[in-house]
Amino acid sequence: MKNNNIAILGSTGSIGTQTLAIVRNHPELKVAALAAGSNIDLLEAQAREFHPKTVAIYDETRWKELCERLNGTGISVVCGMDGLNETAGGSGADIVVTAVVGMIGIEPTIKAIEAGKDIALANKETLVTAGHIIMPLARKKGVRILPVDSEHSAIFQSLNGEPKERIASILLTASGGPFRGKSKEELQKMTVEDALKHPNWSMGKKITVDSATMVNKGLEVMEAGWLFDVPLEKIQVLVHPQSIVHSAVEFVDGAVIAQMGVPDMKLPIQYALFYPDRRELFGQRLRLTQIRKLTFEEPDPETFRGFALALSAAKTGGSMPTIYNAANERAVRMFLEKRIGFMDIPASIEYCMNRHQATASPTFEEILSAEQEANRYLDEKWGK
Ligand code: NDP
Ligand code: MG
Repeated sequence: MKNNNIAILGSTGSIGTQTLAIVRNHPELKVAALAAGSNIDLLEAQAREFHPKTVAIYDETRWKELCERLNGTGISVVCGMDGLNETAGGSGADIVVTAVVGMIGIEPTIKAIEAGKDIALANKETLVTAGHIIMPLARKKGVRILPVDSEHSAIFQSLNGEPKERIASILLTASGGPFRGKSKEELQKMTVEDALKHPNWSMGKKITVDSATMVNKGLEVMEAGWLFDVPLEKIQVLVHPQSIVHSAVEFVDGAVIAQMGVPDMKLPIQYALFYPDRRELFGQRLRLTQIRKLTFEEPDPETFRGFALALSAAKTGGSMPTIYNAANERAVRMFLEKRIGFMDIPASIEYCMNRHQATASPTFEEILSAEQEANRYLDEKWGK
């Protein structure tokens, strides 16, 4: 197996901790590096348990304390963007699990690919904003981008190496989130507490809010476009409230191959780590007789405007998906801080998209300036 040594960017989060749960069950996996934002308590505990060579803390104000706490362990402690880049590109890892939240993941992902490391990609914001940089670079460097997002893992498993010419369409499933079936008027009143109650999945706060707005599904359409190199017209979103069919591929002969399972991120994470092997995974199993009914319906882009705006940003392409994503990241932060309402999230995205003049194929620097542009527009709209 090639990918024995792993680095995890975002080790203290939902995907990061589940990745470490898999490592715990597979002694052949070694942790080369861990990185987190500011949670030094959990990062310290993880460092003591898994003995990486390097840990990175993005928040530079926590660096000194973490150094003191890990003094004598022989673990090197780095910080800031340089630290994050070092864990991605410089550690002894063969595979980097990108589980940070947001487009902060772009630069370390590029560093990891440049250093020839495979990527187990959870951080969808990176592909949405910089897919045109990441995918060609990965091809050039001969590294694999292995999807961790459950739908994309399902598509990857369903494709199982078949060439894209045989794809008639990708059937990307969506749970519909906690607000499926609600009217626009009802959505206006939804609180942070309501939005954080996802019916099927337990995830970080940002992606949970994205699921409630259906922005997550919009981001996933763009992510699928980059990962599988298919045009938008071939990606069909189906709302499937049971979250059992994680996604499917319809081939040119009409065969539909789907991957099913209980909603548990450990399967897609483990599949990416051991690909192309499959290993035993303990936990709940799918019992179809207990499920009895699987239903599928069309999404409602009229009510879930955040989803419709994603399709429009994807169609425009270039720097527009960055504006879409950056506006959403900022708006979700403000919603979680209770500064704006739930429907102000899509309104913020639309406000920024209406102001932006898209440019084709933005460079990394241009992507960062598009992010700043979206933040400027939202400063104007809501105050700093
Ligand atoms: P969480 O919020 O649970 O975790 C985010 C992680 O990123 C934490 O470890 C956090 O550290 C770290 N982090 C945040 N900012 C920085 C930074 N600047 N530098 C270094 N580390 C940072 O998120 P999730 O695990 O839910 O999601 C991670 C990514 O995976 C997202 O892109 C999401 O869309 C995607 N994803 C998640 C799924 C899930 O089931 N959770 C499913 C599919 C995709 P700290 O704890 O210190 O703040
Ligand atoms: Mg998903």
